[in-house]
Amino acid sequence: MELRPIDSGHPITPVSRLGSTRIEPIDPSRVAAMSSEQIRALEAYNNQVLGDVEKVRGLGGLGGLGSAGPATEQKDVVEIEVVQGASRVKARMRKLGVGSYDVEVGSDKFRMTLSASLDGQAEQFARELLQEYVKIPQHMRHVLKEVRINDGPNPADKEWEKRYGIPGFSSAAAAGNGGITFFNGAKHQGRSTIAHAFVHEFGHLVGQQVEENQDTWLEWLLPRRFDSQRYPDGWEKAMKADGKAVDGGQPVVGADGKERQYSESSPAEDFAEAFQEYVKAHLQGKEALAKFQATYPYRAKILADIFSGRQKV
Ligand SMILES: [Zn+2]
Repeated sequence: MELRPIDSGHPITPVSRLGSTRIEPIDPSRVAAMSSEQIRALEAYNNQVLGDVEKVRGLGGLGGLGSAGPATEQKDVVEIEVVQGASRVKARMRKLGVGSYDVEVGSDKFRMTLSASLDGQAEQFARELLQEYVKIPQHMRHVLKEVRINDGPNPADKEWEKRYGIPGFSSAAAAGNGGITFFNGAKHQGRSTIAHAFVHEFGHLVGQQVEENQDTWLEWLLPRRFDSQRYPDGWEKAMKADGKAVDGGQPVVGADGKERQYSESSPAEDFAEAFQEYVKAHLQGKEALAKFQATYPYRAKILADIFSGRQKV
């Protein structure tokens, strides 16, 4: 079975030389010696810093590979029409600078940030993103603030290989704190990662947002506020009650040589895979939803609350 790793939910990426375009992976032995609290703090920190570095790169201010990228002429505002079910949705892509765009759909807006070398493909990326974006029910779209498309790999791949027990792990994308990052120019084994992983990554953002909304004021004050749980309360219980892994069509081969579902990597991955399958069923209609419900009844209950708006996102 061909290995098809999808993503890591939250990259561990210590930035040893902030201000340059290089991001170096952490020495795995250092991570092994850390407490889970230290790892969480590092993750939160690195999500922030990785975002900042990419913003600077996207704007072309740091030179490096990006500054020599193709300078394709791009209009400042491009209108893009996207088919959403039976209707057409108009979106606008507004250029802010090299590799930096605002993408607006109705009253929702997200920033699209590209490595400068990818700037010539901005419109094509925006089209691909929008095609997936319109699959997400409107009341959840606000959780996405930024999409980053990097021309290089995820520097944290080695770490994820170890933590997920999947040899040769290569991130296609990662998500956290309102941002989704695609690696390797959003191509994975020659295919578009956007079409493949966007809804899964969006699931991570929704899971994180719901969990934060469910936190009590006391939890906001405690260090737990910085935890890396990215799924609603009760999700792990629902997983156990359903008694089976979510089949997201993404089998992977573990270190033991055995094939398993990608959703089995962690409860956060289980939630993202379930979210992706639920979005699919939601678009297909009643029959598909009923099938999801029959297969994963406890997870379906939590997802139905989120999709109906009963649970605030
Ligand atoms: Zn994931």
